[in-house]
Amino acid sequence: MSDTPLCPQCNSTFVYDDGNLHICPECGHEWPIGTTGETGGLNVRDAFGNELADGDSVTLIKDLKVKGTSSVAKIGTKVRNIRLVEGDHNIDCKIDGIGAMALKSEFVKKA
Ligand SMILES: [Zn+2]
Repeated sequence: MSDTPLCPQCNSTFVYDDGNLHICPECGHEWPIGTTGETGGLNVRDAFGNELADGDSVTLIKDLKVKGTSSVAKIGTKVRNIRLVEGDHNIDCKIDGIGAMALKSEFVKKA
């Protein structure tokens, strides 16, 4: 994955790389490579140590409350087309019947 991301500040597409930094020529924002949701430096593993990648399908291994709602994503729910991101909740996804949510990779299993 060597795609240069959009600028997180102004969404510019003219971002270029310089050493370990992404640089946005439009707003001057600079940030380290590998911190804005690109999968280049990400190493996300499921609960069993399988490496996950963008576009993978996973299954929940635990009932998860959906933040801000009374919904629960049930154990065994299949989640398609995940997207890896940086952070505590390192999987972005959309679950049928629930919508977009963020998951922790430790609560999923690669399908
Ligand atoms: Zn910018």
